Amino acid sequence: MALATATIDFCALRANLARVKSLAPDSQVMAVLKANAYGHGLVPIAQQLADADAFAVARIEEALALRTGGITKPIVLLEGFFKASDIEIMLANNFQTVVHDEYQLEALEQAQLAGAIKVWLKVDTGMHRLGINPESINTFYRRLKDCPYVQDEVNLMTHFACADDNQDAYNEAQLQLFQTLVADKPEPLCLANSAAIINYPQSHGDWVRPGLMMYGVSPVKNTFSAQLQLTPVMTLSSEVIAVRPVRQGEPVGYGGHWRADKDTYLAVVAIGYGDGYPRHAQNGTPVLINAQRYPLVGRVSMDMITVDIGPDPSAVAVGDEAIMWGRELAIEEIAACADTIAYELLCNITPRVSYQYI
Ligand code: PLP
Repeated sequence: MALATATIDFCALRANLARVKSLAPDSQVMAVLKANAYGHGLVPIAQQLADADAFAVARIEEALALRTGGITKPIVLLEGFFKASDIEIMLANNFQTVVHDEYQLEALEQAQLAGAIKVWLKVDTGMHRLGINPESINTFYRRLKDCPYVQDEVNLMTHFACADDNQDAYNEAQLQLFQTLVADKPEPLCLANSAAIINYPQSHGDWVRPGLMMYGVSPVKNTFSAQLQLTPVMTLSSEVIAVRPVRQGEPVGYGGHWRADKDTYLAVVAIGYGDGYPRHAQNGTPVLINAQRYPLVGRVSMDMITVDIGPDPSAVAVGDEAIMWGRELAIEEIAACADTIAYELLCNITPRVSYQYI
């Protein structure tokens, strides 16, 4: 049994999906499962989301892994396909695809298929990453409608750049542009990621695309999940493998960047960047041991971290559980201490971590 463990709470996952549905009651839910379901385990998570209407992934390999895992729900490829040869695979496996570029449209037009594929035409309303230019929407739309290998219903979608900030006027501009572009097209609409589901009810449309909030993490700036009635799904924990004294003035860890300012004790916890704990977590990042927050001190190593437990060595013992994040220690706080975002922490969990599903 590995020391570092990601405990995944299925009950919390289902409750978060129910929360999505209560916020967007008139929309269907496309649950985003890319990057190993944000580090939670692709197939186990999909199996628990019976109430989702479809799943979305980034890569065709992820979609195939879902089918191999026995998942039969509709699956949407959020970035579309990259090679013409993928089209046959998509048809055979009943995958739906985003179309965001001319090369994809041409490949569909030139395909020789014994069926038709469901597509989602992605329009760039301001993210400037993927999506066709607004001026091209009518041409793309018409060509997709005329393509014999594309199903009749052409879903229309866009993606917000700043939905995590409900003060940002850019969101309203994107929304308005999208609404103008699609006004004459009677098709299902899909705009909202987690942040927009929470911040922009007017963007819900026919489909919503929640990722982060389903995993119980706040997608909204300066907000914690509990404030949004979301419950963290993952608890990342490990064990204390040593408790040892350090004297005032002694340096700890690689580079000796942290020095004890008084005599104290350290707990050494068996987790490091080799497990996905962020190397850039600063001194003072909280670690929870026996329901007490202790500060991380010294550099994060590949396999372990050091935690200052203060003057009483009996507060912590070898074998005690240490929690890096989870229900009692917000991942949003840890992400801030590591100058990153919770998305990255979740996706960075490495294969060395064992998964326990409860
Ligand atoms: N839609 C698209 C196109 C995405 O790329 C993503 C994730 O990055 C999502 C939806 C889900 O976003 P979130 O996890 O913020 O809900």
